[in-house]
Amino acid sequence: MVSNNEVGRLFSLYAELLLIHKEDELLSDLLSGAAYRLRRLEGNVVEMDQQSLSKLFRPPIVALLRQLKKSATLSELEELVELTPGGLFDLMRIKGLGGKKIGILWRAGKIDSREDLLAAAKAGRLAKLPGFGTKTEKNIIAAIEELNSNTKHFHFADVADAAESLVKHLQKAFGEERISLCGDIRRQTTTVSSIEILTAIDATAFVRKNLKNFLTALTSEAGITRAYTHDEFPVCIYHTTPALYYGQLFVRTGSEAHVKKVKARLKGNRRHSSEEAIYKAAGLPFISPELREDVAEWNFVTMGERLVESADIKGVVHNHTTWSDGVDSLSDFVQACKKKNYEYVVISDHSKNAHYAGGLKPDQVLRQMEAIDDLNQKLAPFKIFKSIECDICVSGELDYGPDLLRQFDLVIISIHQQLKMDEQKATRRLIKAIENPYTTILGHMTGRQLLIRPGYPVDFKKVIDACAANSVVIEINANPYRLDMDWSHIPYALKKGVMISVNPDAHSIHEIDNIRWGICAARKGGLTKEMTWNALPLKKVQAWLKRKNCPG
Ligand SMILES: [Zn+2]
Ligand SMILES: [Zn+2]
Repeated sequence: MVSNNEVGRLFSLYAELLLIHKEDELLSDLLSGAAYRLRRLEGNVVEMDQQSLSKLFRPPIVALLRQLKKSATLSELEELVELTPGGLFDLMRIKGLGGKKIGILWRAGKIDSREDLLAAAKAGRLAKLPGFGTKTEKNIIAAIEELNSNTKHFHFADVADAAESLVKHLQKAFGEERISLCGDIRRQTTTVSSIEILTAIDATAFVRKNLKNFLTALTSEAGITRAYTHDEFPVCIYHTTPALYYGQLFVRTGSEAHVKKVKARLKGNRRHSSEEAIYKAAGLPFISPELREDVAEWNFVTMGERLVESADIKGVVHNHTTWSDGVDSLSDFVQACKKKNYEYVVISDHSKNAHYAGGLKPDQVLRQMEAIDDLNQKLAPFKIFKSIECDICVSGELDYGPDLLRQFDLVIISIHQQLKMDEQKATRRLIKAIENPYTTILGHMTGRQLLIRPGYPVDFKKVIDACAANSVVIEINANPYRLDMDWSHIPYALKKGVMISVNPDAHSIHEIDNIRWGICAARKGGLTKEMTWNALPLKKVQAWLKRKNCPG
């Protein structure tokens, strides 16, 4: 049974999302009103009979309550959630920002994260947006700063650069090399709770230094100094001696299980002059910090290959333009990819089922294909592939029929709607779609949004087996709020010979650089350059597609 509280929460969220997406404003008002009234209602609203409901609420609300009683979910709301960039949910937590304002920030200001918003506010760019003034701008800065000081977990992408630059500042301030990130952040886990740093400087000397340009609120106790960066990220500094530094760096970086396994191979308790020396003494090649999870590293070290790097990526795969819900035009977007020295780009706007995201009807697809043909002529040898992010229907069928599907160079398939499924249903739905002969890449496998909502459960082995059997590539969605499929499944995919594509799922030119976060995650799973689909140069990708599309 859904509680009144929960109904209120769902209604409020639904009301905000309708405004963000510029959908039904009237329904949004009704929902907010209903959510408010629910707070004072006695008895469970979902269990009330039709007559009492009709006295309390307008017909659209009554219909939603009946849906909640039947399925405990609101399918329209789930669709909206799926189509909303993860960062916008975070913006809802900022005092004074409602759906309308967030919608303007997103569409007119191209702002979809707290960091972007703070930067824009500080640069005075918000005041120029419709409905915003200098006063709102000031309030937003204050509200974000308050919120930042309370947050417990962060997306790795939001902290990574601040952490790197903090270490560089500290090294310079102390004239000491032996200061390094450690813990989760050095392993580049998808989310982190603080910036952990190990230093060979002792605590007394550390806090005595004037560090106020980059750290605030320093307190020191029992060999650990705690502080905050000016962006309000919590910092945790471990102090050790120069002699113990590398041993401590090794211990404070790897997961417990990883450290234990390496230690078991070390004889005696010698002091080491580097981490390399520790692995050497254990009879192992150096294991990159991000791999030290006791997941992918043991297989990886025996392969003798190297991990994929950002510079290996040759093509920008899975992107949205103004044809659906992207913010940049097709022409601007592809020229930006060319300018960044990629060899090719795959344009995959939404398919018709994703109506909230401006999904393309068949005639629009054909017109976009013509536009791509024109651009290909102008930009050759740079190549634009015609693609689509095709919705996977509940039945596992794809959103278009074979006549249209066969006209794409490649098809990315994703689930965006009706996400509430048990493992069996979700797995069956995915596999049916993977078996479609026109499927090329499986997009964001579980639909998760990190720190916002878990994905639907899937049987990873079965889904990966199906990809192997049908030569379907698996995406690592490089949006730092998704990073889906999770990196921990990469070893099994590689074992089955399934290639992985590191896709930015860009909705704007600046999101092309999401690839960086996908690469961090992919490396944690031991992804090699050889098995990275979009590390293939253009000629090889074309040959690969030809083989896949016309086998035999
Ligand atoms: Zn998608
Ligand atoms: Zn997408």
